[in-house]
Amino acid sequence: MEPATGVKTEEAIRFSDRVNRIGASPTMVVLQAADQLKSKGVDVADFGAGEPDFPTPEHIKRAAIQALEENRTKYTPVPGILALRQAICEWHARELGSSYQAAECVVNVGGKHSIFNAVCSLINPGDEVVIPAPYWVSYPDIVKYAGGTPVILETTAEDNFVLRAAALEKLITPRTRMVIADSPSNPSGAVIPPDEYAKVLAVCQRKGVWLLADECYSHFTYGDAKPFSIASVPGSKGALIVVGSFSKTFAMTGWRLGYVLAPQPLVATITKLQSQSTSNPTSIAQYAGLAAMRGPMDSVATMLAEYARRRERIVAGLRAIPGVTCTAPQGAFYVFPNISAHFNSEMPNDTAVAKLLLEREHVAVVPGEAFGAPGHLRISYATSMERIDEGLRRMSRFFGRAK
Ligand code: PLP
Repeated sequence: MEPATGVKTEEAIRFSDRVNRIGASPTMVVLQAADQLKSKGVDVADFGAGEPDFPTPEHIKRAAIQALEENRTKYTPVPGILALRQAICEWHARELGSSYQAAECVVNVGGKHSIFNAVCSLINPGDEVVIPAPYWVSYPDIVKYAGGTPVILETTAEDNFVLRAAALEKLITPRTRMVIADSPSNPSGAVIPPDEYAKVLAVCQRKGVWLLADECYSHFTYGDAKPFSIASVPGSKGALIVVGSFSKTFAMTGWRLGYVLAPQPLVATITKLQSQSTSNPTSIAQYAGLAAMRGPMDSVATMLAEYARRRERIVAGLRAIPGVTCTAPQGAFYVFPNISAHFNSEMPNDTAVAKLLLEREHVAVVPGEAFGAPGHLRISYATSMERIDEGLRRMSRFFGRAK
């Protein structure tokens, strides 16, 4: 039924099959529910956010202000200014041991856009894309949008959610076109050990499958895990698509800046796609990104040290709650505890747990189902120690009462 205004209802609008195949990001749904409570003045312990709680470093903000003052506010080349592409390649070589040239780099409107562009440039209907679970929520939807079929590879908490080459090989069929791996992982914090990652790459090379390596959290690793790029492995370039982002490393989520490093013909095709969609990423954000790539890395070390402290506290706090088990994440800024021992008739799954946790204790977390890993909750520790302690108190009370 069309309302009297003549404006069509959602049902009356014929949306494309393409867009009907995907859902809204579940993490956004949780954030919205938490925001609604906050807007009513409720004190929410918010562990939903997938973004640093630190401000963008000063030298990066200055560079954007200077770009504005110098009127660098016009279109730039579609793949980004040459200086930035060169600086990304130099930074990546310096920090992560790769060897890319500017022609093998395209700058996009965030890492999500980089993945979207790469997948849409390569995946045809019927193509299979292997995605290890727990996975970042957008991977399957981006693949579906492109017409591809996500093939989910289960990893286990007992094995710290690490993607294993042997398990991957078993899932590869003649239709497999790509494997998407993020290390460190959102939501599990898993880090693929370099020798295992090299085996994953070798499987992809042997089978003629692209490896899309999402390095969004590359610089947030703990303990023995160190920043590592599979692009540092000699001979990796032909099968590899590196996706990087300024969002987490430099606390720049709102600037929307990410990049792809890949063989030149793929970069050229992504640039073509970008030329018919977003065009260049925002010019002043690019100049900010240039300062990030050329500037000091001490702000990253400062953030990492703080994340490491919080990680200790939250892992210990969660493990102290009866019926909650929790692997120690090796990277990123999330913990992914298993809370399935608390399932009962009132809360039979993790989505129900997350809902009740928000309603009763005003604690915002994302249910594991959203990441293809039922029984878990994703808890972001990109929040202050004080909020972590408060949240732990509330979760102890909640699970204590629920038992
Ligand atoms: N990849 C992973 C694993 C992420 O967690 C995110 C953001 O949460 C992204 C990519 C995309 O980040 P952005 O688009 O802000 O660069």
